[in-house]
Amino acid sequence: DHINSLSHKRTSEEIYNQACKIIPGGVSRNTIFHHPYPHYISHANGCYATDINNIQRLDFGNNMAALIHGHAHPDIVDAVIKQIRKGTAYTMATEAEVLYAQLLCDRTPSFEKIRFVNSGTEAVMAMIKTARAYTGRPKIAKAEGAYHGTYDFAEVSQTANPANWGDINQPNSVPVANGTPQSVLNDVIIFPYNDIEHTLAILDQNASEIACVIIDPVPHRVGLMEGKTNFIEAIYEWTRKNGALLAFDEVVTYRVNYGGAQQNYSVKPDLTALGKIIGGGFPVGAFAGRSDIMKVLDPRESKLLFPHSGTFSANPVSMTAGHTTMKMYNKDAILKLNTLTQKATDQIREAIKIADVPVSITGTGSMFRLHLKPSAPTSYREAYQNCETKTLINEMLDYLFLDEKIMMINTLTCMFSTVMTQKEIDMLSQALLNMFKRFKT
Ligand code: PMP
Repeated sequence: DHINSLSHKRTSEEIYNQACKIIPGGVSRNTIFHHPYPHYISHANGCYATDINNIQRLDFGNNMAALIHGHAHPDIVDAVIKQIRKGTAYTMATEAEVLYAQLLCDRTPSFEKIRFVNSGTEAVMAMIKTARAYTGRPKIAKAEGAYHGTYDFAEVSQTANPANWGDINQPNSVPVANGTPQSVLNDVIIFPYNDIEHTLAILDQNASEIACVIIDPVPHRVGLMEGKTNFIEAIYEWTRKNGALLAFDEVVTYRVNYGGAQQNYSVKPDLTALGKIIGGGFPVGAFAGRSDIMKVLDPRESKLLFPHSGTFSANPVSMTAGHTTMKMYNKDAILKLNTLTQKATDQIREAIKIADVPVSITGTGSMFRLHLKPSAPTSYREAYQNCETKTLINEMLDYLFLDEKIMMINTLTCMFSTVMTQKEIDMLSQALLNMFKRFKT
């Protein structure tokens, strides 16, 4: 109560001023910054989030794509409270973990075995280490611009200064954090997403050293365009011929189909990393895949190749929230959500036409991204926002947040949830029409 009454008397600006003195930049997640200061949340329900000044916003951020049924869904809240009363974390294993593992393995054919961790970053890290342990090889290959969390190796060549990118057909391994060891850069091979010819040529140069090729089937930072079927198939074939593994990052894309985005392809990944929605609003990650590969984690093996653990791995609160969430996210719910999102993008395309602005849309399933370009980008370098565009996008995000009371993810991306309806779609398309007209030059 003391903490509540304290924060309610203060403005977001005052809280932020205090935050800046003790937290670098005042924030723990750089991406949630809104100018001139972040607004602090009071509470959220369904698809609406209310800040401490009692301003309610329609939320298309959904905690960075992590909420599939919106905020505080009563069934999830009930299940979690029941678990919390029995304890929140134990040294012993829980049945909740096993039941949830079963549900996910039943959904996705490539998940023969699964393990839980605490974030998408950790899931990708464990997936890479599993691939290395199984193949005995040091290198990984990833797409230029693709975001896979903050593990040293996974974060190479995310978004960096274009001056360092190098030849479009043979991109450089660009460090993100200052001080990234050269050895890390040497062990990460970068390829241009959806470009079969150049990707295969790059992979060939490192054929005997690559443990896995990491693919996000709809990479958000690359441009939220779908991986082309023949691109994914070509990489799959290459990994079969060269003793490497195909590793999917489905931390975001698991929402797009019942078995994840991988269900949309004829080939199966050997390993998959999960996170976000599978935690039902609580911190989670998981990695899953072929039994013979996941054996590297089995402590009963005479030679344990990848010893792996974690204090909060398979935490019963996350397991309970996740299980309740995914049970509700059944085939009917997915079809309904994806249809609603399709309707939204149709309406927004109409708004783009009415406002006559050079804007395009990419995305699939329950997510889309707007691009300030007349036609949808097909590559990372095309989708990349230079400083000028970034400034404009930030102004647009601020306008939507402050004037239209709509929250998006910072690339003008929307993540839908099952509690949204036609009403919210209409609010979104009207707000975007207003924005297009306002920012039209
Ligand atoms: N992979 C992808 C595709 C992601 O979008 C993210 C998070 N945005 C991650 C991995 C890392 O997940 P987390 O933030 O939970 O560490």
